[in-house]
Amino acid sequence: MEAIVLNLHKWDIHNHEQNKMMLDYICSNIASRFNLYGLNGMPRRATIIEALARYPCLTCVVEKLSEKTVKNEAVDPFYKECHRLAVNILVEELFYLLTRMGYKIAISTEMDLDYGKVDILINLTNYGLSLKNATKRLIIEVKTGNSISFSQIFRYLLDSKCNTIIVWRIRKRQVLVFNAQKLKPLLAEFVRMICLRAERLLSSKQIPSCQHVKNVSYQPSQEELQQAFEDFSEALVETLPTVLDIILKQLRIIPKQNV
Ligand SMILES: [Zn+2]
Repeated sequence: MEAIVLNLHKWDIHNHEQNKMMLDYICSNIASRFNLYGLNGMPRRATIIEALARYPCLTCVVEKLSEKTVKNEAVDPFYKECHRLAVNILVEELFYLLTRMGYKIAISTEMDLDYGKVDILINLTNYGLSLKNATKRLIIEVKTGNSISFSQIFRYLLDSKCNTIIVWRIRKRQVLVFNAQKLKPLLAEFVRMICLRAERLLSSKQIPSCQHVKNVSYQPSQEELQQAFEDFSEALVETLPTVLDIILKQLRIIPKQNV
């Protein structure tokens, strides 16, 4: 264990590096307490941060952290299929657009392949895709349902080298841009909340049981699915130009030659 002492009184939450260290420290402590390690032997940060961010009730946090397997939250394959379709359409449009502008593009589905000298690398991920050029990394999260998770977005902003996340909420017809620089004070408060809660958990001798009901997975009716798909297909076509436009702007793409 690293010799960082969690001293909540001497913590300057405006110190970004210190915040990251605090979060690392907390995650490694929680991981060792609940035996939460990934295949690579590292603490399962996503699970830990999501559980801490979600429940003010320590019993609920413990329950979540003690789940043996990663529960496949019974997402209807229908939504997964919508997600896949939207990501595939977006990837090909980006590839086409950027290639026509004279850039050398590679698409990878794995993180650590070496694609040598490309201008922009497009990575397919389970949330959507990421784009990387010489100076910037951009995450694009594709959302087909109505849900949105701030803790997930904050986690990406804190964990990755990525400064900007674009959330394409298709059915809401929204393209939201989250920027780490602009969100700095809020990210700091988020880290502090996670650490304080973890500290409360780690220092509790006894955690009483609770009666909180966990949400059972919701099954939409046939009519609802039908409606959802109609919304989705209309909104996808309608918002595709917007999302492409915003991606290019965020990457500061200037055409290399006339299109
Ligand atoms: Zn509870």
